Amino acid sequence: MLSFAASTRHVTRSQLLRAARRSYATESTSKKPSNLPLYLMGAGVAGLGTYFYLNSTGKSVITQEKSPLDPENFKDFKLKKIVPYNHNTSEFIFELPNNEASLLPVASCLVVRSSDPEALKDEKGKPIIRPYTPISPPEKQGELTLLIKKYDNGNASKHIHGLKEGDTLAIKGPIPKFPYKVNEFEEVALIGGGSGITPLYQIVTHALSNASNRTKFTLLFSNVTEADILLKSELEALQKKYPTKFNLVYMLDKPPAGWTGPTGYISKEVLQQHVAPASLNERVKVFVCGPPGQVAAVAGKKAGMKQGELGGILKELGYTEDQVYKF
Ligand SMILES: Cc1cc2nc3c(=O)[nH]c(=O)nc-3n(C[C@H](O)[C@H](O)[C@H](O)COP(=O)(O)OP(=O)(O)OC[C@H]3O[C@@H](n4cnc5c(N)ncnc54)[C@H](O)[C@@H]3O)c2cc1C
Repeated sequence: MLSFAASTRHVTRSQLLRAARRSYATESTSKKPSNLPLYLMGAGVAGLGTYFYLNSTGKSVITQEKSPLDPENFKDFKLKKIVPYNHNTSEFIFELPNNEASLLPVASCLVVRSSDPEALKDEKGKPIIRPYTPISPPEKQGELTLLIKKYDNGNASKHIHGLKEGDTLAIKGPIPKFPYKVNEFEEVALIGGGSGITPLYQIVTHALSNASNRTKFTLLFSNVTEADILLKSELEALQKKYPTKFNLVYMLDKPPAGWTGPTGYISKEVLQQHVAPASLNERVKVFVCGPPGQVAAVAGKKAGMKQGELGGILKELGYTEDQVYKF
């Protein structure tokens, strides 16, 4: 969620500017002008207010009434560019009309289906719909980027990987997930596997970019091989920029020679070593996103789109339902 919501009647422009500087300044200063999201006036959800964007001089450069996405209806968006990421994953950059920004709240995802209803359907003829989390920030103008891993026997991922630049994909959103509030927790553990990194990345980039952030993040990110680690350079850049606030731990099933990090599946010992203890009560939160088997082993099975009962290793270690969120 963009950080500020208030009524236009009660807030002056100078208050907005001060608030924006507090909220969106980063730890290091960049000379490059960038458009920063300032403020959502009105109802406080994407799509219902006026968003002001400021450049680095604090000058308002655009206002945007609402998100170009629709939470109720699928809309076709043009695939502008495909950027291969590794052996099975690519970035799919979609064009947002009129150079608008997606304004998606953090954390939220989108759902997609094929633009041509015949192209992606199940055996009963119903459209196949899957969730994806953009890796582009909510304030990015004109673009929305999905990082999608292809499963050889996967329906939606195979369809999307079969698209060409200029084709369209039907997208609906935002689908709100966990409403992340800056400094709500002292410690946050992000436990991810494979392409499950994207919702965790959305939270950590959003939180760390806020100059008032005091929360410490640990990302425990498991993959098969080193080549499977998605967003590796972006994560390492974050760690370098926020060394006291972001601890990055990779875990590999098939490590290369000389690997010193943890290996194999996520275990009780690894969680005890890296994740803040359950005894911190409401001061700790654990977010989990990964392949269904991993989520079940770490935190218990999800019940469709619902959380499902807490189970797995986190339950054994004494964490409560309130302390854990499964994407
Ligand atoms: C909130 C949320 C956000 C997501 N964001 C992203 C994202 O940004 N990028 C991305 O690539 N994926 C993301 N996913 C996963 C995505 O929604 C699909 O599940 C994935 O693309 C597989 O769909 P499919 O139709 O191709 O495969 P399906 O036809 O559903 O399944 C084919 C095979 O793949 C296996 N499988 C399905 N999903 C997974 C999985 N996640 N990991 C491992 N094996 C799996 C199944 O067990 C089956 O064997 C996200 C999932 C959730 C819940």
